Order: sequence, then structure tokens, then C-alpha cells
Amino acid sequence: MPERLLDTTYYRASSSPDSHSPLDGARECAVCIIGAGFAGLGTAMSLHERGQRDIVVLEADQVGHGASGRNGGFVFGGFSLGERDLHAAAGPQARGLYGQTLEAVALIRRRVRQYGIDCDAREAGVMLANWFDDDRILDAQQRFMEQHMGVQWQRIGRAELAERLATRRYTGALFEPGAFHFHPLKYAQGLARILAREGCAIHEHSRAIRIGRRGAAWVVETPAGRVHARELVVCCGGYLGKLHPRLRAAMLPIATYVMVTEPLGGRLASAIRTGSAVYDTRFAFDYYRALPDTRLLWGGRISIRRRSPAAVAELLYRDMLRVYPQLAGIRVEHAWSGLMSYARHKMPQVGRLPDGTWYGMGFGGHGVAPTTLAGELLAGALTGEPEGLGQYARWGLAHTGGAAGMAAAQLAYWYYGVRDWLRE
Ligand SMILES: Cc1cc2nc3c(=O)[nH]c(=O)nc-3n(C[C@H](O)[C@H](O)[C@H](O)COP(=O)(O)OP(=O)(O)OC[C@H]3O[C@@H](n4cnc5c(N)ncnc54)[C@H](O)[C@@H]3O)c2cc1C
Repeated sequence: MPERLLDTTYYRASSSPDSHSPLDGARECAVCIIGAGFAGLGTAMSLHERGQRDIVVLEADQVGHGASGRNGGFVFGGFSLGERDLHAAAGPQARGLYGQTLEAVALIRRRVRQYGIDCDAREAGVMLANWFDDDRILDAQQRFMEQHMGVQWQRIGRAELAERLATRRYTGALFEPGAFHFHPLKYAQGLARILAREGCAIHEHSRAIRIGRRGAAWVVETPAGRVHARELVVCCGGYLGKLHPRLRAAMLPIATYVMVTEPLGGRLASAIRTGSAVYDTRFAFDYYRALPDTRLLWGGRISIRRRSPAAVAELLYRDMLRVYPQLAGIRVEHAWSGLMSYARHKMPQVGRLPDGTWYGMGFGGHGVAPTTLAGELLAGALTGEPEGLGQYARWGLAHTGGAAGMAAAQLAYWYYGVRDWLRE
């Protein structure tokens, strides 16, 4: 276990960001976007790719400060709402919606290549490992994905899996070949770098503190400046705070945790012999992947509170040993929390309020592709093609119930955790 944890995320420690100056004074623009996570940057990029250059992005902290620069780095299809629930809610349309997230994966891949974003992208797919001793779980999932989502996930048997993951915990896996994983903060920083180079104004350390109207224009105030914009897009994820009470009431900020070990050298292969990213079939699953320098990134847990890095490291280290006891004694160097924004329905919330505010949030713990999709939908609507956005209108801004909603979310997590445990 760690004697000393570094007080920064691994992603921050292993990237070299550009700095984008704070907003100072007044300026005008066509579109003001609040929040430089994947949703905000994705919207800016999709606008830029449609020819809109007059954009200002305001970020309270640094680019990628929120979930986008802290996540597991899995880039795969789907939403936080699982495929079966999506199918139950949307019927035959579910396949098309799921397909849009696969297109978003392809769009991220295209941007990485086209703009030369160096973000340690690893084309090694994602594995869903079966925690339970019941092959029917994978059989049913494989069939469902093929029949209803039109994708083929490949079956990995017990013996083959044991060659890649040296643990007795799993009883087989499904492999999603079209997925990949990357360094999410480097990707966010790369998007910001391209946007800034192409003339979009990105201002870090520029928290939006007030939103108002002057005539037809929006006025967004920061501590040292003010933006007058024709259009306003709010993409603040779980970090929205009190900026926008209407949007805040429709979202639960839920924490999840990640740790990164010291470089393991040859010892990594005593546990993990695959470049694929891995998660498992429990409701409260582990997710992990080997990093290029032989560190292991390990994530898991959901909670309504952020924990100290030491507490996160302790929890996740124990989780890791349940799967890989042979890694006992390795050092954890980084551990952190991140906030996800969850809607009651677990689908993205993308749309426009009656007062004209555009928003993109509610991507939960499965947001890398959906935020990119949301950027496309919002940019499409902002440039006169609202049909795409309309497909998500049914998942609106239902009230989450404030503190009671938070408590209910925590209880549900515990309930499903106990259910997994009983099943085990
Ligand atoms: C630990 C963790 C692991 C995850 N793992 C995965 C994964 O492996 N794969 C996957 O698909 N998804 C994963 N997710 C989910 C995914 O990261 C999120 O769904 C996605 O990044 C959300 O992006 P966003 O732009 O909506 O929000 P964020 O990335 O949180 O960005 C919001 C930004 O808004 C800024 N902001 C807030 N208020 C203001 C203000 N008033 N003024 C200016 N700026 C403001 C914040 O500082 C922040 O930078 C994970 C999430 C977490 C937390």
C-alpha cells in the first residue's frame, strides 16, 4: 500500500497542458459554452467542423478538470442506461441510438488521427468479464447485443481468458473489438489546443458566476469579465454547482474513484497479459487497464461523497487484491475521485430550455462517446438541424429529488451491491 500518495491525478502528472488565459474584460461571440469537459469541447469542435469559428469556452478550473480528465479512459458504445433498459424504453429505436454512440467512438478515433492528438490511444478493445459462475449471463448478453443492437461481441472462454487475466474470479468474457482506451486528459487538452489554434477562445480559471440577458443576447459573467453571446450552451456535468438551479435540480452529482499503481515492470504480467481494458458483470463493477508504462489503472465504486485520496487508495487496493492477490504489496501512487452527472433515467440530457439555453449533461459513468455524440447533436441543432436532438427529448429534465434523491441513489447502489454479493 502507499506510503506516500501524490496529490495529483496520474493524468495530470503525465500530461503537459497548454495554458489558456482567464477571461479579462468584455467580449462578444456567437456561441458561449460553459464547461471544458468532453461535452463542452465536443460541442465546440462539432461547431468548428461545421464552420462556426466565433466561440468562447469558459472553464472554471483547467481544461478537463472534471470527469473528462479523470475517467477510466474506456471509449466504447452505449449509454449509462444499459442496453436492455434502453431497449425497454425505446423499443426498435434503441438500435439506432446505440449505433450513434458507436459513430461517436469512430468520431473520436477520427479526431485523434486527423488532428494528431497524442493521447496514448490503445486499439485493444474492451472485455466484459463474467464475475458470476453462470455462463448464461454472457450467452444472453451476446445474443441480445447481436439481435437488438446489431453488434457482435466475441465470446472468450474460461481457459482462454485465464491466459490473459490471471485470476480465478472470472468465468469467461465478452470482447468488444471496436472499442479502445486512451489518456482522456491528453485528449481533452488536444481538443482544446486545436480549437485555440483555429481561433476559438478558451478561457481557463474563468468560472461562470452569473447568467443573464441583455436584449436578445446572453450575458455570462466571470470574476474578471463578461461574455455577450447570441447562443449559450451549459455543459458543466457533475460540477455544475449553483450556477443553474433548473438544470441542477435535474441531475445528481455522484462520485466514483480511480487509483494508479507504481510501474509494475514484469510483475504486471503475473496478473494482466492483455492490452484490453476490462470491466465485469456486477452492478458495482471494477474497471481497469494496463497503462503504457506498466502501471495498472483501477477504478470502481459509486458514492454520493468524494473521499480523500488515501481513503480511495485503500478501498480500491482491497478491490484489486480480491481479483489479483498476487499483486499484494505493490505501491499505489495516485488516487482520486471524480463527479459524474446522473439523470434519474440514466440517459443523456441534451436539449434546449424554453428560455433558449442549450444544455448537455447527465452522461453518468458511461460518457466518453455520449458526450461526443451530444456535441454533434447540439452543434447540429445550433446550425439549423434540430432533428438529431429531438430523438433524445423523451429523456428530459425530471427532478431528481435533491438530498432525498442522493440518499435514494446511495441506497440503490448498496442494494444492487448486496444483490451481486448474494448472487456470487
Ligand atoms: C472516475 C470516473 C471514471 C469514468 N470512466 C469512464 C470511462 O472509462 N468511460 C466512459 O465512457 N465514461 C467514463 N466516465 C464518465 C465520463 O467521464 C463522463 O460522463 C464525461 O466525462 C462527462 O463529461 P462532461 O463534459 O459532461 O462533464 P465534465 O467532464 O465533468 O466537465 C464539466 C466541466 O465544467 C466545468 N464547470 C463547472 N461549472 C462551471 C462554471 N460555473 N463555469 C465554468 N466551468 C464550469 C468543470 O470544471 C468541468 O471541467 C467516468 C467518470 C468518472 C468520474
